[in-house]
Amino acid sequence: MPRLSEVIAELDALWPPERAEQWDAVGTVCGDPDAEVSRVLFAVDPVREVAAEAIALGADLVVTHHPLYLRGTTTVAASHFKGRVVHTLIKHDIALHVAHTNADTADPGVSDALAGALDLRVTGPLVPENNLGRICELDHPETLAEFAARAAKRLPATAQGIRVAGDPDMVLRRVAVSGGSGDSLFDAVRAAGVDAFLTADLRHHPVSEATQHSPLGLVDAAHWATEWPWCEQAAAQLDTISDRHGWDLRVHVSKTVTDPWSAHVGPADAFPGSAPSAPSEPTSPGAPN
Ligand SMILES: [Zn+2]
Repeated sequence: MPRLSEVIAELDALWPPERAEQWDAVGTVCGDPDAEVSRVLFAVDPVREVAAEAIALGADLVVTHHPLYLRGTTTVAASHFKGRVVHTLIKHDIALHVAHTNADTADPGVSDALAGALDLRVTGPLVPENNLGRICELDHPETLAEFAARAAKRLPATAQGIRVAGDPDMVLRRVAVSGGSGDSLFDAVRAAGVDAFLTADLRHHPVSEATQHSPLGLVDAAHWATEWPWCEQAAAQLDTISDRHGWDLRVHVSKTVTDPWSAHVGPADAFPGSAPSAPSEPTSPGAPN
């Protein structure tokens, strides 16, 4: 069985920490470098539900995409929810390691996993300077509505579902994808001349301006859902490494939906009386497939 330090060395080779943004906080949050590792859990968020999943699984190492402490801290007291996660993990001998913007900009990275989940053919980065986002070609032209339906089917279900901006009948041949918040990438999307952009966390003004500027389809999924495919990709990468070393690691992907949005109320619910008479149920997040 490998020691934590040996596993982390391999993870750092996949996602070099020096490639993380200046403001980011990647690397090992807690864990004994000499401890043996037999089970690893990959997840998007270092939240208490994931810590509980790791305990139930008997994991020795949790690797998350999002940092626990992004802006530094002077306390890990369990009176704060973040400190509680640290305490829970340490009590159960579970290490926590973070690969964030160093995983975004890696090859393959977070957006490769997103493209792969939708069976898109990647032709290059959306922002070549830092290898962010991916430009992809569709095997066959399809409408924006069909593309959005594909995203809804292939990404794990969330309460938000998929939001679409633009003419649902517009025909797409080339699209850009970027896992996580894609608000800041509209200039690159326009420069790439793609027909549509799949990402998360899009806001009113950037979307309004982008769609007024020129016909562009926008597909907005839950932030968590666009980054979750990275967990599967990362787990497969670590499996291969484990085989190469003869480590016999058990590598798992979190099934916990940590998208913080818990329900979506449609317009039919917002305006009782104008609604169809069928009872409406809020969309409940399903387990990722
Ligand atoms: Zn993210």
